[in-house]
Amino acid sequence: MAQKTKERHGEVRCLNCFERFYVAQGATKDACPKCKMEWRISWPYPDTAKIRGPVWEKLTGGK
Ligand SMILES: [Zn+2]
Repeated sequence: MAQKTKERHGEVRCLNCFERFYVAQGATKDACPKCKMEWRISWPYPDTAKIRGPVWEKLTGGK
């Protein structure tokens, strides 16, 4: 069997600096490793991640 045991993830492209990076599967938000911008992640398909928009709470200083 040629089954991959690699951890599944989705590739997204940062809307701020256009850097491509991977997010852990099922993650609802992740930060770009290049510009540190945090993004909300959605999963239209189990293996396909998509950026929905910025994490506004971070920008407004909330938390
Ligand atoms: Zn970025």
